[in-house]
Amino acid sequence: MLEEKTISRIPSKGYAAQNEHTNLAPWDFERRTPGENDVLIDILYCGVCHSDLHAIKNDWFSGVFPMVPGHEIVGKIASVGNQVSRFKTGDLVGVGVMVDACLECENCHNHQEQFCATGVQTYNHIGRDGLPVYGGYSNNIVVREEFVLNVSEKLSLAAVAPLLCAGITTYSPLRHWKVGKGHKLAVLGLGGLGHMAVKFGVAFGAEVTVLSTSESKREAAKALGAHNFVVTQDEAQLSTVKSSFDFILDTVSAKHDIDVYLSLLKANGVHICVGIPLEPLSVSPFSIVGGNKVLAGSGAGGLAQTQEMLDYCAENNIVSDIELIDIKNIDTAFERMLKGDVRYRFVIDMNTINQ
Ligand code: NAP
Ligand code: ZN
Repeated sequence: MLEEKTISRIPSKGYAAQNEHTNLAPWDFERRTPGENDVLIDILYCGVCHSDLHAIKNDWFSGVFPMVPGHEIVGKIASVGNQVSRFKTGDLVGVGVMVDACLECENCHNHQEQFCATGVQTYNHIGRDGLPVYGGYSNNIVVREEFVLNVSEKLSLAAVAPLLCAGITTYSPLRHWKVGKGHKLAVLGLGGLGHMAVKFGVAFGAEVTVLSTSESKREAAKALGAHNFVVTQDEAQLSTVKSSFDFILDTVSAKHDIDVYLSLLKANGVHICVGIPLEPLSVSPFSIVGGNKVLAGSGAGGLAQTQEMLDYCAENNIVSDIELIDIKNIDTAFERMLKGDVRYRFVIDMNTINQ
């Protein structure tokens, strides 16, 4: 561990929660001076993921405060360390949910750096130098070059930001399970992750049904390319899709009854959890034993696959549907996200941090 006194720092302006009971508020802090393998990025946009809200409210576990959330980062390289080979000043880049890992363990070798036991998440975590790390609701960030992704100039940069978490978190399981032509895919919950799952599912050739609590999203779901739309509280609508799906991608952020959804799978169907509600999942063994069903999970995606996803999006003109916000309105954005009132991702225009 480096001694703190040896580290000269980069001034940074962010929005932080000082503890789990406070709202986000402006906070000036310092980041480490970029080392020889680091890049300094001026942040242009940062997506607002539901995980940011879970984290600042300590929904899952005791967090590292003060906390600057944000792991859907797009920006421009401001400077590079002298050992950096992949980037130069001015490059457009992205940073997702992780900023470091050992790159030597089995998970790292298998290109699943997000599961490295000594990996470092973008925020709410302690870096490998022993100091807390801070996320993308800020004007800059220092990141080891291996954890920085190339972003195409072809797409709207603000709409690319959510790809760094919502994009890869849905792309990865759909690729893992080889979802595509001939498959019936249900996307449960049409929020930030859900709308990306619909876009990828359609692009990969699957027949996509949105399972939603919000009748008001019916037309919007179709506009995203979904073939069908089912309101989950409506028993009559649900009964039309019993035993019909090969895959369900579950993006729901709050407590919900998994047994109901497992009954919508065909035999050998797979229910993939990516949403992370506070409460443990409760599953009747009968729901998976009858029909040899699989209850699976998926966490973000590795570096190589994240780059693959960004390149795929650039080639296929896929971005997130976003509402660009001033960082001063972040509390309203969180309130609206909780109510499902966003089509489909808030993205912070980081210019607004200086105004
Ligand atoms: P989001 O934009 O808020 O979307 C969640 C959607 O879930 C809502 O739009 C809503 O869709 C549905 N929903 C909300 N409350 C519900 C309830 N009580 N019952 C049924 N459905 C409900 O959130 P997000 O950013 O997509 O994130 C979704 C979840 O994934 C969060 O828990 C987040 O922490 C987690 N996450 C996981 C990973 C990972 O690596 N696995 C990565 C990022 C995020 P409808 O209106 O259509 O019902
Ligand atoms: Zn996220």
